Amino acid sequence: MQKIRMKTPLVEMDGDEMTRVLWQWIKEILIMPYVDLKTEYYDLGLENRDATDDKVTVDAANANKKYGVGVKCATITPNAQRVEEYKLKQMWKSPNGTIRKILDGTVFRAPILAKGITPYIPTWTAPIVLARHAYGDVYSSVEAAAEQGDSAYLSVVGADGKEKEKILVHSFAKSGGVVQGMHNTDESISGFARSCFQYALDLKFPLWFATKDTISKKYDHHFKDIFEELYEKEYKEKFEASGIYYMYTLIDDAVARIVRSNGGVLWACKNYDGDVMSDMVATAYGSLGMMTSVLVSPDGNYEYEAAHGTVTRHYYKHRKGEETSTNSVATIFAWTGALAKRGELDEIPELTAFAKKLEKATVKTIEEGKMTGDLVPLFKAEGIAPQKLNSREFLQAIAEKL
Ligand code: NAP
Ligand code: MG
Repeated sequence: MQKIRMKTPLVEMDGDEMTRVLWQWIKEILIMPYVDLKTEYYDLGLENRDATDDKVTVDAANANKKYGVGVKCATITPNAQRVEEYKLKQMWKSPNGTIRKILDGTVFRAPILAKGITPYIPTWTAPIVLARHAYGDVYSSVEAAAEQGDSAYLSVVGADGKEKEKILVHSFAKSGGVVQGMHNTDESISGFARSCFQYALDLKFPLWFATKDTISKKYDHHFKDIFEELYEKEYKEKFEASGIYYMYTLIDDAVARIVRSNGGVLWACKNYDGDVMSDMVATAYGSLGMMTSVLVSPDGNYEYEAAHGTVTRHYYKHRKGEETSTNSVATIFAWTGALAKRGELDEIPELTAFAKKLEKATVKTIEEGKMTGDLVPLFKAEGIAPQKLNSREFLQAIAEKL
């Protein structure tokens, strides 16, 4: 067959450990035989981040901004032990944090479903895609302790230095206690809202957003207002044309509706709700190896990756020459997500179709009983005994199916 031609390059961000090994194999076995792959390559492996004083991460993020679509391998976020292990010049920041700051985006996490791998909530037959607003609230709050007899106030001071508002938080008459002050900004909330509306249109999923505005009449209500206003002004017509809808509800009602739903929803959460609910949703769908993630910026740039890390324990085995059975599904879906998006933006339908076929072949391989070790104990299908393949055999089985 003639290889599918690309126009604009993908921004390719290589990474670390076991996922770096899988990265090469996925390209070699599943992509390059079919696609005349054009990428602008950035090596975000920890050694090269250290060698370039982390400039490579910033360059990669800027390239992602320039070209619009990137695909990223999992990377090590160094801690004290990694500084020692890799003899680093310093404890470099999380690459994902750096990229997110530059793209100013929102992370959407989506499970990949396969028959035989039943979620803990078996009626979730379609994915629940979760968006967490990753700025402000309790994550950048200030806190203080108060003693009995203290009073705590909330004060807003104008640019001219004059106090505009002073509100009593609490008089600690009977006992001491604690206070907390938190904030968010219109810029960040509207950026979050735009990314959510945009990605709902991409997925053709309805968008649900929830806060606790009945209790938090100014703070949470402000989030609700910003979403509402943007929806009415910029997205309502597009949503109606796509046959999807936007719904605002209270967070407790949203939780109840999610549990009763069949999935197929994009669920936008405030920072804390997203932190908690993303772990709940991910666990309920089964395996970390089956969770993808995409960073979408308010102006429409996309960065695709797996939600899991570099799978260190497997890498140490691999380095010793031992066999591994590491799940590559989320990383494959990062590639297919990026290729499909590139195909859509550059109007290359064959490229988008190829990406969809590769996704189908991957899921079908599992459904027919061929999978990596992490999925074997989860797999239940009548008449099919799950077969554990090693990391490379699993990719070859997908290639055969493809
Ligand atoms: P992890 O790499 O996700 O792995 C945690 C454990 O989950 C693994 O040891 C493995 O369990 C299982 N697992 C995860 N992905 C799997 C897969 N694809 N196939 C099979 N099993 C899988 O998380 P971590 O151990 O906390 O972090 C390792 C490194 O990754 C750290 O340096 C961290 O900084 C980095 N990290 C990067 C990202 C990112 O780039 N987005 C995200 C998270 C973590 P068993 O060992 O029991 O088989
Ligand atoms: Mg969490």
